[in-house]
Amino acid sequence: MNPNDLIQKFHLALPHLRQWVEDTLAAHRKQSVPVNRMGYARLGQVFPEELLQRVRSVVVEGNPPFPALSRMGLPELARFEALPITGVTYRDTFFVRRAHQTESLYFHETVHVVQWDRLGVDRFLLAYGVGLMQFGYRDSPLEEMAYTLQDDFDQGRLAGDLVGRIHRETDAVWEGVKALL
Ligand SMILES: [Zn+2]
Repeated sequence: MNPNDLIQKFHLALPHLRQWVEDTLAAHRKQSVPVNRMGYARLGQVFPEELLQRVRSVVVEGNPPFPALSRMGLPELARFEALPITGVTYRDTFFVRRAHQTESLYFHETVHVVQWDRLGVDRFLLAYGVGLMQFGYRDSPLEEMAYTLQDDFDQGRLAGDLVGRIHRETDAVWEGVKALL
């Protein structure tokens, strides 16, 4: 299938995805906890306190919620529905599997929150979806950024303005997506 046709289909699926995100967040709001209450001291050294007060996590036992992309008109992305995931972020809330809760994973998902903040809901969904279509999960640009920063965090190599860096790199990802739209 022509990539442009797929992007067109993604545009059509966007309202359904947006609604699914809203419904999923509303359904889990009561179970969510602000990340600054998790006792992860190193997160507080690299992210602003106001961000960690606002970001919320939901701990789940099994696979975190993931949209039924094939039923939203995107059967081409059905293979991603079956991927086992340890964490996933929607807007300012992330879901993590209980067995995989680590400060490193919380860092990774908080990077995604800053990406969502920077792009807004529709642009994040488009950029993420286009990245999946073009590069697959691990090498999609918004994941590649989160994994690279996570590695730097794990190795104690992060320096300077982290949020500013995520903003700049996210802007560059969006420029790449825009060229395809
Ligand atoms: Zn990720």
